Amino acid sequence: MVKILPSLLALSLSLSVVFAHGSHDLEKRAATTATCSKTYQAVAKGSYPALDCTPFTQDPMVLEWLKLVDFTKTPVYPPSKDGACPTDLTTIPKDQCWWTCQKCEAKGDITSCPKPGTWGLTYDDGPSPDSERLYDNLLSHNQKATLFIVGSRAISFPNTLKRAYKEGHHIAIHTWSHSAMTSLTNEQVVAELKWTEKAIFDTIGVTPLYWRPPYGDVDNRVRNIATQLGYKTAIWTQDFDTNDWNIPAGTATPQSVVDTFKTWLTKIPSMTTGFVVLQHDLFPQEVDVAINGVLPIAYQTKTLSMQPIAQCLSDAKPYKEGAGTFVLGAGSSASATSSGTSATPSVANSGKNTNAAVSLSAASSSSALVAVVAILAALY
Ligand SMILES: [Zn+2]
Repeated sequence: MVKILPSLLALSLSLSVVFAHGSHDLEKRAATTATCSKTYQAVAKGSYPALDCTPFTQDPMVLEWLKLVDFTKTPVYPPSKDGACPTDLTTIPKDQCWWTCQKCEAKGDITSCPKPGTWGLTYDDGPSPDSERLYDNLLSHNQKATLFIVGSRAISFPNTLKRAYKEGHHIAIHTWSHSAMTSLTNEQVVAELKWTEKAIFDTIGVTPLYWRPPYGDVDNRVRNIATQLGYKTAIWTQDFDTNDWNIPAGTATPQSVVDTFKTWLTKIPSMTTGFVVLQHDLFPQEVDVAINGVLPIAYQTKTLSMQPIAQCLSDAKPYKEGAGTFVLGAGSSASATSSGTSATPSVANSGKNTNAAVSLSAASSSSALVAVVAILAALY
């Protein structure tokens, strides 16, 4: 804890104020550039770049990675300022397809799950000391998620990442320093992605094929580089942001997050596809609202099936090396796949299945009543 507390404090201090991002308010979670050295220092062998700072592109390791991308094929747009949209959105070229500013989705963007009622369950910005509480909750419900990992956090909490991988969660990339990617040069984009890939590979031995741009800040320039490096760009469904990240920022409350989630529950039945939700596990308040607010309701909502993104896309191999610990078909809430007519209660995935008595009460035989008593006795 002695070591953890100062790093948490540093994290909290580095959480700068919420800033306007066109019509979006976005959080900034990386250290400010003022704390990052502007003087190049080579990364020592076996080491990593400075935490929460965009890595230097003249590093020998980065120079090797740059050879993987043909920048003559990369569209040219001027880097943004911290990912902020211009006041006049019509000044953005249409073919830039900037997700946050133009609400533009490109071919290949993952922004939803195909099947209605399917929720692409994702958590960003970990691992953190609080991630363990989230993993405990997911484990107790045999629920898997996609975890978008910040490279700097992977280095800080490698054992937490190892646990997540071991428990079968889908591990994906969320950049090294959590910078707005459209604000970076082509070379910096490569460095952010590849250092994170390396940090994850060095920790768990697999190479993620999925990445999510911090703040959803991606355009066709950044997409092109990510695609050339072999990554699939996963964002989230427009407007399916829980705003959990605004709780530590002080502009949302646990109640407002739960209320937002409840409004989706009324929308979901009429949607023609599933959806992907933005949630986080960096700060304690984010994990608190997940395990005490959103997830308990979700587990009880029988029309929902929560799945890691790779699962909802039927992708059995979310890593360059293949499946790793990921098992397609394992660890999603089974509610949506159930017909709802079975008289046999399933208690395998949940400590308390409140539907057990309900589903069995339809049966009138005395043996069913005996079964109800036996199940309730076992549960409480
Ligand atoms: Zn993030």
